[in-house]
Amino acid sequence: MPNIKLLQPTSIQEAVSMLSEHRDDAKIIAGGTAMVIMLRNRLIAPSVLLSLGRLQNLRYIRHEPGIGLRIGALTAIREAELSPLVREKNPTLAQTFGEVANVRVRNTATVGGNLSEADYASDPPCVLVAMRARVKANSVRGEREIPLTELFQGFYETSLAQDEVLTELIIPDPSPTTRSAYIRYVTRSSEDRPCVGLAAVLEMEPDGICKDMRVVAGAVASTPQEIASAEALAQGHRMTDKLIKEIGDAYASAIDPISDMRGSDWYRKQMIRVFVCRTIQKALANGRNGT
Ligand SMILES: Cc1cc2nc3c(=O)[nH]c(=O)nc-3n(C[C@H](O)[C@H](O)[C@H](O)COP(=O)(O)OP(=O)(O)OC[C@H]3O[C@@H](n4cnc5c(N)ncnc54)[C@H](O)[C@@H]3O)c2cc1C
Repeated sequence: MPNIKLLQPTSIQEAVSMLSEHRDDAKIIAGGTAMVIMLRNRLIAPSVLLSLGRLQNLRYIRHEPGIGLRIGALTAIREAELSPLVREKNPTLAQTFGEVANVRVRNTATVGGNLSEADYASDPPCVLVAMRARVKANSVRGEREIPLTELFQGFYETSLAQDEVLTELIIPDPSPTTRSAYIRYVTRSSEDRPCVGLAAVLEMEPDGICKDMRVVAGAVASTPQEIASAEALAQGHRMTDKLIKEIGDAYASAIDPISDMRGSDWYRKQMIRVFVCRTIQKALANGRNGT
């Protein structure tokens, strides 16, 4: 990898001003698990690499009442998986981080890198969309928040501007009546990315009526897929097997899946139908927040 200039800012202010200066030539590198593969395979050839490695103040996990979990972008996925705070406040999220790749990758890959990469077959994005999480992004123009529902724009494409750094992930606390689950279905090695990933978050009334439901399918299209008309079928109803099957059918017919080495479009449609149902059932069987 010849002639690449490495910049190593020590503050976020320095990072965004360097990015602004080298706007068209620079690429951010965090854990490097995806970037190094792209560089080695000559898929990208930036003249400047801006490493976030020295921004250790972006490596934290906190909880703020009324806001929720706040995870710094440089936090390793493994740290988020093992964090007692994430496990206590949101077990489904801790479980999801724990299912990414393998321990070696999770020790190096960062939470911010996973979201910024926007790979269609990553695990956390669909869960975080279903949980209505949001991220903070910084640039020389200041800070802004982006809901996860608006972050993913296409294959490896986000709504982050070229000169923005993703700095924080915020996950609102589930309510005492929230039920959630994530199931990843792999067709190759257990460490591979999923063929289909399904997240379900249900807000249940104490009498067993569903107040609100969010179901998001990952790895089946360029971005996480949420079908509002199918979610609406659950509102105000008891979650019977018949209704859950109807919702599974509605997701399968509304999504136009991709084909890749993990499964054909036809196969993915069948798996969407099956795993929408299983994930809703798993969420309902789970205790509060996925425990
Ligand atoms: C063998 C292997 C298996 C994997 N399996 C899975 C899997 O099963 N499930 C899964 O979800 N993921 C999987 N991954 C993906 C892995 O989670 C990502 O590679 C990782 O999350 C990227 O994080 P990173 O910190 O290494 O990012 P980097 O490689 O450093 O960067 C990735 C991209 O994000 C940008 N970027 C990074 N940080 C920021 C930031 N803070 N602000 C703005 N842009 C930023 C970079 O410019 C680059 O475009 C796998 C990866 C490997 C290598």
